[in-house]
Amino acid sequence: MKRKRILLFGLQFIIVMASIGQMHSPADLILLNGKIITVDHHFSIAQAVAIRQDRIVAVGSTNEIRKFGNAKTKIIDLAGRTVVPGLIDFHTHPEGASVSELDEEIPDVHSIEDVLSWIKGQAALKKTGEWIRYPKLFFTRLAELRQPSLAELDSVAPHNPVFLNGSYGGMINSAAFEASGITVATQHPGIVKDKLSGKLTGFIRASAFGLLKLPPQKILSQQQRMDALEVMLKKYNSYGVTSICSGGGDYKTFTNYQELNKSNKLTTRIFQNIILSRSAGTSINTLIDTLKSFKYSTGYGDSMVRIGAIKLILDGGILTGTAYMRKPWGRKAAGIFGIDDSSYRGIVNYTREELVAFVKVANELNWKFTAHCTGGGGVDLLLDAFEEANKIKPIQPARFSIIHGNFFTYPSMQRMAALGVYADMQPAWFYKDADAMKYILDDETLRSFHPYADMVEAGITINGGSDHMVKLDANTSINPYNPFLAMWTAITHRTERGSLIKGSQSISRQLALEMYTINNAFGSFEDRLKGSIEPGKLADLAVLSDDFLTCPVDHIKNIQAELTILGGKIVYDSGNVRLDR
Ligand SMILES: [Zn+2]
Repeated sequence: MKRKRILLFGLQFIIVMASIGQMHSPADLILLNGKIITVDHHFSIAQAVAIRQDRIVAVGSTNEIRKFGNAKTKIIDLAGRTVVPGLIDFHTHPEGASVSELDEEIPDVHSIEDVLSWIKGQAALKKTGEWIRYPKLFFTRLAELRQPSLAELDSVAPHNPVFLNGSYGGMINSAAFEASGITVATQHPGIVKDKLSGKLTGFIRASAFGLLKLPPQKILSQQQRMDALEVMLKKYNSYGVTSICSGGGDYKTFTNYQELNKSNKLTTRIFQNIILSRSAGTSINTLIDTLKSFKYSTGYGDSMVRIGAIKLILDGGILTGTAYMRKPWGRKAAGIFGIDDSSYRGIVNYTREELVAFVKVANELNWKFTAHCTGGGGVDLLLDAFEEANKIKPIQPARFSIIHGNFFTYPSMQRMAALGVYADMQPAWFYKDADAMKYILDDETLRSFHPYADMVEAGITINGGSDHMVKLDANTSINPYNPFLAMWTAITHRTERGSLIKGSQSISRQLALEMYTINNAFGSFEDRLKGSIEPGKLADLAVLSDDFLTCPVDHIKNIQAELTILGGKIVYDSGNVRLDR
């Protein structure tokens, strides 16, 4: 008993000494005279921040914080500039995007004319027979809302095979048919022929992509991939991003990031989702066995590189008419996507029973579960599975999410809120695609497209992300990864072409900023570690070019970082902020 008391006293003594030590050891870096949007519980605004090593040690007024410095402390005079917590992009694919323009720049196209003139230029540059390819060309993002026709492609590239890849389907020209040995006699469900004439249309479904005799893919060395990734993450830093959720990968992707970190080249923190893909004929039990064989689960790693959620691909996409909807795609969509089955609701890769079986095991093994799900039918199906799993073990602590989702009805929002399911959304999709959706969907479905305000009202936490896949530029990428463009979209609920979709679902600047900071920290179970500027948290923050809270609303999308700080170290510097020491 006596001994125990002495031990306890000793422990208290150490704690007191440690806190005195903390009070007296000076800060390494101090930011003064600014407008610090802390995104703390009260969304309070401060003037200054003190940082020691990789942590924030104090937040307050310039006079208070100045006391934390000594002769060695580096001081940054913000001169009134705004500071936000380091931004978090909760859904992006930098591994693929970083190498997408290694050979040549992919053009930003908005119309058939843009596409054709690019192909024409490429044909003039390339040798006869050389392929011209465009990755991820979604024709719903072209003003004409249609694919370039076979005749149009032939007119600009008579001697070069052309392949416009739209993920779940694509267009090729006559030279591509010839080069691949595909003729009108070829029998394959993926080769779409004209119903009346029986002629090739140029449209092929993804199932026929394998028939194309494409040149072998250029093999990149591991070093080339790592170098490209480093460059990509630096570009994210220039928009204030200090953490990302890498939307899909595997254990190798995770170890690549660890390697980058070991060589001090990793400039964003990583939450690495693990995808389990289902190839034809794979049973759900095989997938479950694979999941059980993993020696790690969500959260494994450290504050720089962590394992994220386990992810399944539930359906297709809204830009190709393959998302799994609540009701048949309908007459308008049928004309645009060439759907001839009036009961067609999209593609779905798992039955309800299969999902239930998988989700239960994932929850049992302490994984955060998530799924690529682009249609409302998919949302409802996932919620069915979540409710079943929840009966056995509550899913709320596991912070399950639905990636994309896109279409949320009132009942689905109620169910999500009750289960504590996060909505992992990409405002860039609204920005790029809501214009086309007006011509594709009926009014009722359109109203349920990205209803941010209703979701917040229902009590759902929205995670903000980009789904960046191709190209390097922040604003013209597929999809744009500029988080300020995304926040502007959520704040104005406006599209690229400027239209406001019926029944505005705008949210406040505060809520939009929370989507890209604290909400995403919650999504990766790191809300005690980052997502706000508070003592004890990681010193991840961004000094901005403008005041996010008061600048004219349309200016928000032009904001960039002046300085981005990750764990107390400057990872991006525009050169515009004066460093006193
Ligand atoms: Zn994605």
